[in-house]
Amino acid sequence: DEPAYGRSPPWYPTPKGGIASTWAGSYEKAARMVARMTLPEKVNVTTGTGWQMGLAVGTNAPAVHVGFPQLQLQDGPLGIRFADNITAFPAGITVGATWNRQLMYARGKAHAIEARAKGINVLLGPCVGPLGRMPAGGRNWEGFGADPYLQGVAGAETVRGIQSEGVMATIKHFVANEQEHFRQPWEWGLPHAVSSNIDDRTLHELYAWPFGDAVKAGVASVMCSYNMVNNSYSCGNSKLLNGILKDELGFQGFVMSDWLAQRSGVSTALAGLDMTMPGDGVGWADGKSLWGSQLTRAVLNGSVPVGRLNDMATRIVASWYQLGQDDEKKFPREPPNFSSWSNDRLGVMAPGSPSAQDQVEVNKFIDVQANHSVIAREVAAEGIVLLRNDNDLLPISRQGFTDAKLLNSRREILARVTGEDRKTGKLKVGVFGEDAGPGSGPNFCKDRGCNQGTLASGWGSGAVEFPYLVTPVEALRKQFNTSEVELHEHLTNDSPTHKAGEAGLDELELCIVFANADSGEGFTKWGDVSGDRPDLNLQKGGDDLIVKVSAKCGAGYGDVVVVIHAVGPVLMEKWIDLPNVKAVVFANLPGEESGNALADVLFGDVNPSGHLPYTIGKSLEDYGPGGQVMYLPNGVVPQQDFGEGLYIDYRYFDKKNISPRFEFGFGLSYTSFELSDIKVEPKRSKSPLPKPRPSNVVEPPSYSTDIPDEKEALFPAGFRVLEKYVYPYLEKTDDLVSGPYPYPDGYDKKQELSGAGGGEGGNPDLWEVYVVVSVEVKNVGGRDGAVVPQLYLEYPTGGKGGEGGEVVDFPVRVLRGFDKEFVPKGGKTTINFELTRRDLSYWGVQEQNWVMPTWGEFVFKVGQSSRDGGAVEGRW
Ligand code: BGC
Ligand code: BGC
Repeated sequence: DEPAYGRSPPWYPTPKGGIASTWAGSYEKAARMVARMTLPEKVNVTTGTGWQMGLAVGTNAPAVHVGFPQLQLQDGPLGIRFADNITAFPAGITVGATWNRQLMYARGKAHAIEARAKGINVLLGPCVGPLGRMPAGGRNWEGFGADPYLQGVAGAETVRGIQSEGVMATIKHFVANEQEHFRQPWEWGLPHAVSSNIDDRTLHELYAWPFGDAVKAGVASVMCSYNMVNNSYSCGNSKLLNGILKDELGFQGFVMSDWLAQRSGVSTALAGLDMTMPGDGVGWADGKSLWGSQLTRAVLNGSVPVGRLNDMATRIVASWYQLGQDDEKKFPREPPNFSSWSNDRLGVMAPGSPSAQDQVEVNKFIDVQANHSVIAREVAAEGIVLLRNDNDLLPISRQGFTDAKLLNSRREILARVTGEDRKTGKLKVGVFGEDAGPGSGPNFCKDRGCNQGTLASGWGSGAVEFPYLVTPVEALRKQFNTSEVELHEHLTNDSPTHKAGEAGLDELELCIVFANADSGEGFTKWGDVSGDRPDLNLQKGGDDLIVKVSAKCGAGYGDVVVVIHAVGPVLMEKWIDLPNVKAVVFANLPGEESGNALADVLFGDVNPSGHLPYTIGKSLEDYGPGGQVMYLPNGVVPQQDFGEGLYIDYRYFDKKNISPRFEFGFGLSYTSFELSDIKVEPKRSKSPLPKPRPSNVVEPPSYSTDIPDEKEALFPAGFRVLEKYVYPYLEKTDDLVSGPYPYPDGYDKKQELSGAGGGEGGNPDLWEVYVVVSVEVKNVGGRDGAVVPQLYLEYPTGGKGGEGGEVVDFPVRVLRGFDKEFVPKGGKTTINFELTRRDLSYWGVQEQNWVMPTWGEFVFKVGQSSRDGGAVEGRW
């Protein structure tokens, strides 16, 4: 009965929350509270009050008489959006590049400390979708890299960090919002959003995979995306929400819509949506919700079962208990102490409503930054990927000529250029590019929606107001010893003329050139970047600048260091082979501590340990047809076929045997590491299928299924109504027409529960460790440093799977483990990789379960990138 490609099968009814032992206590409390709620109170809990109808970007409404408060929801994945005195952390992609689990957790925790202190209950992050199918995709930088395993680990660590502070995390966007073009209709003048058409195996092994990790980590909320998946809107896709998320992955929290991603009322409720945001229906602040009073009506007339509404409310209330938010000391029942919509102290509580309102204190300007700049700087520094470092040019010395390498290069230059051999005098260093400097300040464009000055974040809802931004040039100015070093600044991308500052270009011994590439969320367009980048080139003439500086720096003999800030891969072919481009430093999106983190690495206080979280190709075409954004709609409902299946990023390059410029996982250090002594220790024996799904350990709460009295739903007497605000109440009930109303096709079919399900995160056996691989790592270079051993799994080939009996196709290799460990020079350490049943399995479409190949041997290769010649190899 498999539906045709691009079609989504029905999956009804919604599995109830409350089946996992990990949430049992919270569901018990929630059941007691929800049982006492009136119909409008339940609806309140599920429905946003409307765009700009509260101080946060999203607020539902309270259930006053049972003591359930309004929840405050705020973006985003790298800091508190629209807030003052917060930390602008490095973006997700930078975090991914650290490959450091502790930092992933620590950043999440610090983020949540700030959220709580600002009065936020629910953070709208982390982001693991887009996954990075298309390297030019506008929002890839909000996530952690173009691999499901890396996204999964980073997402789960972030969730754990955030939730350790009692703040609910939201894993988003479920699922396959891989491009900004046509993500929804109104920004693109189309009647419908793009449909991401994905086959079952690819959905499991790539796009849904990191969501599984987040659910296993206990995430409170999942945000469904704007796009369609297999021609059914994500927020109304019963297969995705009821089937995969709630049955198979055993998700116990609530599904929230992306902002206006809900396209219909009744069918989204039946498909498993639990909360609609921001509450408005089809337009921003239009006051016409698809839920709110409409959901009240739908329950009263029987088109949405009471049980479904109960489950929605229970899931939300249980999440609130699960995170300990009923503790009023930790979560005072007050609105946020800042307004997303105003920077003034006084303002109104619902600026989206035209109704007259009192002025109240909406901004208290509370400084929540604590010492989080330390974490921001560490992440930014560890997220710097050193891609090239010929002749060990880096690190450089703050002291100019006390550094032997530069002394030599300077002598060489001077001898050639001027015939003069100056052994004294200051070292002359040039800094080039707009990306090194402040431009018009980091907050010049709304939501960071333009590329100017140094790039430290992409744009959109995933960006914040920078409290400050340490620019690269500022850090270099401060840190170079000016009695030994003369710094020349050329902070534009205009072609440098003969005079760069005071010194001629010919006299510069070291030139540091900055260039960048930006992108963001589709609601803002900058130049030809409509969210998604139109290409992978450096922007604002960055390539030209690098080429020209290399030609002129020290008359072509000066050493050039290229520093790049970018949202994703950029092409380097125009300059990477120039002889004096000795070092390439890929600094991703570093956040507020940009300059300091860069200086830490350039001067060698921090030994670089970042590794690429994606492939840097030699052309955009090299990423294959699946790697191309669809820039022009190919139909009324644009169809994006994910026909490449599993083959994105390095999986594609490997399959097609294409040499990338720098492969996935690559990154240099100032020291070197050697891997040896791989050991493979099986913990359990191989078997194709996981143990049978455990039957429910816990029963979900049950309530009366009687349709409540209509009178409950009427506006209370004397209620003050704000125009355009979303309410759950009805003005009258005599227009209700009771059913029966038809339920969607497939609603009556008894749904078979997934064999991959049965616990939070799925069948517990999928999370059992089946084999442990260990390696020895020695630091054999001249400095202390951190190593990132990466385990790539090669599946045994040739085996036949499923009823069809075809040979199962596998990518050449897939990432299935990584770690980061600091090793002093001369030191060594042992690294262990634990591989779970899920890690070793593929999604069997026939079996509808994870299948572990039992034929042949698994090959484990542990190296320092996906194509490391020095990798060590073990088998099982
Ligand atoms: C974005 C979400 C964001 C929401 C609220 C949407 O446009 O896609 O990521 O959380 O807005 O600002
Ligand atoms: C808002 C964002 C929202 C976006 C969605 C913008 O106007 O500021 O919060 O995510 O619209 O399109």
